[in-house]
This record gives sequence, structure tokens and C-alpha cells, in this order.
Amino acid sequence: MAFVLSARSLRRLTGVNPDLIAVVMRAINITPVDFTVLEGVRSGARQRWLFDHGKSKTLNSRHLTGHAVDLGVWRDGAVVWDWPDYRRLASAMKKAARCENVPLEWGGDWRHFKDGPHFQLPWAQYPAPGGPASAEASSPASTGASS
Ligand SMILES: [Zn+2]
Repeated sequence: MAFVLSARSLRRLTGVNPDLIAVVMRAINITPVDFTVLEGVRSGARQRWLFDHGKSKTLNSRHLTGHAVDLGVWRDGAVVWDWPDYRRLASAMKKAARCENVPLEWGGDWRHFKDGPHFQLPWAQYPAPGGPASAEASSPASTGASS
């Protein structure tokens, strides 16, 4: 069974890196669970709010530069939050990434602050242009919680 991305999901991909969009577009065709795009590009103000409220561990999120998306598993007209669903979604995303030859990190693979809905392009292959993000990209400690 193939799913299609809703118009709302497509809108939320606006400004996201084209390589990451290609992975999402392929994943929707092969995923065993339907999903919706929760968030793509995020404003600095919103990131600050999430950080201040403990919902994100960084002010240097990949969402700020369009290098990350949050996907929600969609069932019976609502987003569901069960880990088994996100593992199935993540396998589809990883398979899609391999097909597109795009490196991909899943927040659910992080050892601390696991983030099931979060998928991002790695800092190493996709450094953000300018600013503190570039400095962090060159640090080996930069992997991990960047939701
Ligand atoms: Zn995220």
C-alpha cells in the first residue's frame, strides 16, 4: 500500500534541503506506516522557545537551516507516538536515503534524548553556511542531540 503526502505536509517541506525532500518523497512510497510532516524549517524564535521549555537540547538545530524534518506517524486521522511505529518509519526513511544516496541520521538512534520523529542530514556532509554552526560542524563532539 502506498501513501501520499498531504498538501499540508508538502507545504511544511518548503525551504527544506532538496536532498532531504527527495528522501521523504521516496519514503512515502515505501513506508508500511502512513506519516505526516510535522515540521521542517524552524525560526530562531521557535527554537529558543523549545530550548527554554526543555523540548530541544540545542539552539543550533538543523531545523534552522532546513537540514531536518520531524515526521509524525499518522493513523486514523491522528498522529500516534508509539516507538514500534517510529522504528518502522525510520527503516523506510533509511531505505529511501540509501536509494537516493543521501546520508541520513535518525533521532531515535541517538543515545541521549531519543527523538523518534526527527530525521536530519549529518553536519559532516552538510555543514551549515556561516555562523557558529560551521564551528560546531568541525568538532567531533557535534554529533548527537541536535533536534
Ligand atoms: Zn526535529
